[in-house]
Amino acid sequence: MTTTPAFLHGRPPFGQPLNAAGTFTPVGVSRASPAVAEATAWALQRFLVIDEWQDLASRELAAFSGAAAGTVVHCAAAGLTLSVAAAMAGTDPQRIAQLPDSEGLRRVVVVPAPHLIDYGHPLATDIRLAGGTVRACGRPERCTGDDLLPALAAPEVGCLLLVSSRLTRDPAFDFAAAAEAARAAGVPVVIDGAAQDLRVRELVALQPAAVVLSAQKYLAAPTAGLVVGEAGFIEAVRAQQKGIGRAMKPSKEALVGVLAALHERRALDLGAWWREQEAKVRQAVDALGGLAGVQALRVPDPLGAPVPRVRLRFAGGAEAARRAAQALRRQDPPVWVMEHGVAEGVLTLELIALRADEVDALTGALRRGLA
Ligand SMILES: *Cc1c(COP(=O)(O)O)cnc(C)c1O
Repeated sequence: MTTTPAFLHGRPPFGQPLNAAGTFTPVGVSRASPAVAEATAWALQRFLVIDEWQDLASRELAAFSGAAAGTVVHCAAAGLTLSVAAAMAGTDPQRIAQLPDSEGLRRVVVVPAPHLIDYGHPLATDIRLAGGTVRACGRPERCTGDDLLPALAAPEVGCLLLVSSRLTRDPAFDFAAAAEAARAAGVPVVIDGAAQDLRVRELVALQPAAVVLSAQKYLAAPTAGLVVGEAGFIEAVRAQQKGIGRAMKPSKEALVGVLAALHERRALDLGAWWREQEAKVRQAVDALGGLAGVQALRVPDPLGAPVPRVRLRFAGGAEAARRAAQALRRQDPPVWVMEHGVAEGVLTLELIALRADEVDALTGALRRGLA
């Protein structure tokens, strides 16, 4: 743990939340390890030839993901925008300079309607920032192959964008069939797998042009987007730095911090790590048993990621869940939980980022906050 920055005179102005809301951007997403923080500080104090470090990152991202190549950009949102730009402009300098004016380019981005999520802002904005036009397929809660096929055949289509996230609304969506249909139509596939770094090989196995990840989520690197995929497509993503990509470049410290985080991930014993996560979930469920009006239950990740969570179901429904979430934010330290299920009387706890002693502090705060 580093010391408090000197300009704060030893006194942080705000409480530091106990975060059970997962890799949540409004509370700082994740906490980096000392080794990642040190690598980041090392980079901040040096000049580096960025292209050399991007070449190294490409090799390391390939080894990590199983893809042919990779590149680091500012964040996953930037990775999505730059992937759309790469699909439209390729490595052509004139087209790259033209964007985000997409006149004359294959600018339509096909997206299954259930994948048009809002993860803090609308996914459609990432597409429009590059000059792309969104074509939603199917109904808001269901998109089938019959919906996708005619859309992919249109001549103005630049790419198919799929989202692998617990926020999407069609659990039955067939990624393999969609990727296959796009391949048959000659349309590149880009997958938003921002929080799916633990499942990246599964997504790369679908053979898309690119998978986009957030480095600051479970990898706990500095904020960065990782784009992994086909060598030619990654080259086109990198080429966008001469155009709109200038506003979406990675910092040198993020680039080096990402490499440090990838190094740590490689050394991680995933089996032991998963057992640790299960033990924390059991610890919380046990500690919260017997609370009046609340049922605590382990729930698996809906996408099959090794991320078990604790579901708190309130007998008092939506109103009780909402009041509980408010009470938790007023605790010292403030407690943040996942609130996407509030309307159904549910709050969810994600414990990945917490140590066992912090899980104790969390359940203590919950008992007080829910009393
Ligand atoms: C977090 C997230 C993003 C955005 O990631 P940033 O790195 O914050 O830009 C995009 N898509 C999904 C599904 C996400 O979960």
